[in-house]
Amino acid sequence: MKIIRTVADLRAAIRDCPSIGVVPTMGAFHEGHLDLMRQARRENEIVIASLFVNPTQFGPSEDFTKYPRDEESDAAMAESVGVDILFCPSVEEMYPLRIVTVSVAEITDEFEGAVRPGHFTGVATVVAKLFNICQPHRAYFGLKDLQQCAVIRAMVSDLCFPLELKFIEIVREESGLARSSRNEYLSPEHRQHAAHIQYTLVNLKQEIERGLDANFAINQAIITLTDLGFKVDYLTLVDANTMRAVSTPTNTTRLIVCARLGGVRLLDNIACVL
Ligand code: AMP
Repeated sequence: MKIIRTVADLRAAIRDCPSIGVVPTMGAFHEGHLDLMRQARRENEIVIASLFVNPTQFGPSEDFTKYPRDEESDAAMAESVGVDILFCPSVEEMYPLRIVTVSVAEITDEFEGAVRPGHFTGVATVVAKLFNICQPHRAYFGLKDLQQCAVIRAMVSDLCFPLELKFIEIVREESGLARSSRNEYLSPEHRQHAAHIQYTLVNLKQEIERGLDANFAINQAIITLTDLGFKVDYLTLVDANTMRAVSTPTNTTRLIVCARLGGVRLLDNIACVL
C-alpha cells in the first residue's frame, strides 16, 4: 500500500486506471470503515481510502483538535483489507485558497444540519474535492451518517458527478452500539449503557411496522431513553432521500436518533418501512 500526500502524486499514481473505488474518511479506523474498504476492494481494481480530518466540517466549539488521530495504526488496518492507496493530504494541500464551497440546501435544514451550522457545506466541499482528485468510478459511504448520505446523493445528482454511490449498512459493537470513532470519548460504563439506543430503535421499528401510530410510539421511546439518562436531540421517522420527517412508513423511511450521554452525541438509525 502506498501513502500519498499530494494531489499531484495521487493523480500520477492513478493515471489511466480503469476502475477506482474511493472511501472518504477522517481516520481512527474501526470495523465500520473497514467494511467500506472491503466492499470497495471487491468491486474495483484500485482502492483509495482518504484520511483527512477536515477542519471545515467542524464548528468552532467542536472536537477538531482532539479528534483521534493515529496514522500508523490506520495505515496498518487499511493495508490489511487490501487498500492500494491511503491519501493523507495536509490541510494546506487540500485548501490552497479555501474560497470555494459546495452547499446543499433543504436536505440540510434539520437534524445534524440544524445543530451543526456549516457542517454539511464542509462535508460536501471536501467530498467534491476528493471526487475531482481521485476520479473514482465508485464511492463508498456508511449509512451510520444518514443525512450525510442524502447530502452526497443530492450533490452527485445535481452536479452530475460521473460515479456510482454505494451506501453500506451500519457496523455495530458487540453490544449493538453503532461503531463510531467518537465512542472513544465514552467511559466504559457509558459505552455499555449506550447500547440502549439500539434496543430502543429496534423495538420502535417493530412497533411501527406492526401498525402502531408512529408519532405515539416515538414519543414513548423518547420518554424511555430520557428515563434511561439520555438527552434526546431528535428521534424521528424520516424519508432517507429528503431528510424530512414523515408520519407513516414508506419503502425509503428510516428512524433516526441523536441522543447524548455523558456529553457525547451518539447517532444511530434503522430502516423502518412499509
Ligand atoms: P468518518 O471517518 O467518521 O468520517 O467516517 C468515514 C465513513 O465511514 C463515512 O462514510 C461513515 O458513514 C462511515 N462509517 C462510520 N461509522 C460507521 C459504521 N459504524 N458503520 C458503517 N459505516 C460507518
